[in-house]
Amino acid sequence: MALEIGAAIATLRGLAAVVKEAGKIDLYQKVLDLQQVLLEAINENTRLAADNNRLAEEKRSLERAIASHGADQAFEFDGQVYWLGTPGEPANGPYCPRCKDKDNRRARMTDMGNGFTCCPTCQHCVTNGMLNYPKLRLSVLHRQQPPSHGDDDVW
Ligand SMILES: [Zn+2]
Repeated sequence: MALEIGAAIATLRGLAAVVKEAGKIDLYQKVLDLQQVLLEAINENTRLAADNNRLAEEKRSLERAIASHGADQAFEFDGQVYWLGTPGEPANGPYCPRCKDKDNRRARMTDMGNGFTCCPTCQHCVTNGMLNYPKLRLSVLHRQQPPSHGDDDVW
């Protein structure tokens, strides 16, 4: 394409020179107009190529977002909290619905030993009665230790 455009410009310049020498002013003006049209088409082509590159990058970015959104759908909401896999397994959650829905953040909720399972990030709590999963309950040994508020629990 670039070569064809270069050849077309060269042809037009040659034509303009011939017409000018022949004293055909009207025709000369038309050749100059044609040259201008061609230059504008080249500029437009350059702009469109840049747009095309930008759109291709946006497309790749959106495809990445869609792929990660697909990963998000592995989250299951049980009506109270999110699980990453089978609900009720301590390895799979629970994850805070407020943090997940607001910031798309994975904040693991912990049993506070006081009847509530809470998010250490935003302090959103669910009564343990609403989380009917026996494996989540703290053992007696765990109950003797104060609940952790460290950032280690966020992820
Ligand atoms: Zn939270």
